[in-house]
Amino acid sequence: MTALLETRGVWQRFGGLVANSDVSISVGRGEIVGLIGPNGAGKSTLFNLIAGVLPPTQGSIWFDGEDVTKMPAAERCQRGVGRTFQVVKSFETMSVIDNVIVGALVRNTVMREARRKAHEVLEFTGLAARADVLASDLVPAEKRRLEVARALATEPKLLLLDEVLTGLTPTEAQTGVALVRKVRETGITVLMVEHVMEIVMPLVDRAIVLDLGKVLVEGKPADVVRDPKVISAYLGD
Ligand code: ADP
Ligand code: MG
Repeated sequence: MTALLETRGVWQRFGGLVANSDVSISVGRGEIVGLIGPNGAGKSTLFNLIAGVLPPTQGSIWFDGEDVTKMPAAERCQRGVGRTFQVVKSFETMSVIDNVIVGALVRNTVMREARRKAHEVLEFTGLAARADVLASDLVPAEKRRLEVARALATEPKLLLLDEVLTGLTPTEAQTGVALVRKVRETGITVLMVEHVMEIVMPLVDRAIVLDLGKVLVEGKPADVVRDPKVISAYLGD
């Protein structure tokens, strides 16, 4: 069976800056893959290319057996690409439930159905008790979870998580890790960006390290953390 996601020789240039340089990665169905690397390595850029926020300067992106390189973000979301943003984009002046309904409306055009789906997702993510609170009143860890909830409400095949565990207390991070495991158990494939290796390595099946826009190393987490190239990339950070 083909991979769920593949990027083939993807480049992203911003003027003279090369944010992604010939990046070819693949994510198999049911995997949890970690995309790691120092700040500025090009991780969020690659997410934007996969989600369709940006068109790549060069190269192609394949999702679920289809070339989606030219497909707009909304259509990719319909096909099953769900994402969170590193900079939290929740609608602060809306309630938690309404934020999640926005996601659920991607697949449910009947409001009653969207609301039912949103409640189900809030249960799943442990936010049910906060349904009627304004998003702006959530603590940071809950805001991250709301981002995940909103992405889940779009019923993705692939969930792209951009630093959802960063900056959390160890206890909050463990709750987040448990949630990601639970997401995968429902059959959703996960590609997650994290800057801090200690958090992601125990969680992922495979790690891909980006550095200076290029794939530096990929493999099993235990091998990746010991790789001298990875160690020096992080020391230079
Ligand atoms: P990471 O997520 O790994 O920290 P990013 O993908 O955010 O890295 O950024 C990679 C590089 O591309 C950085 O040097 C950043 O400043 C640059 N960059 C990202 N987005 C843009 C943009 N829209 N315009 C210009 N430069 C950008
Ligand atoms: Mg980033």
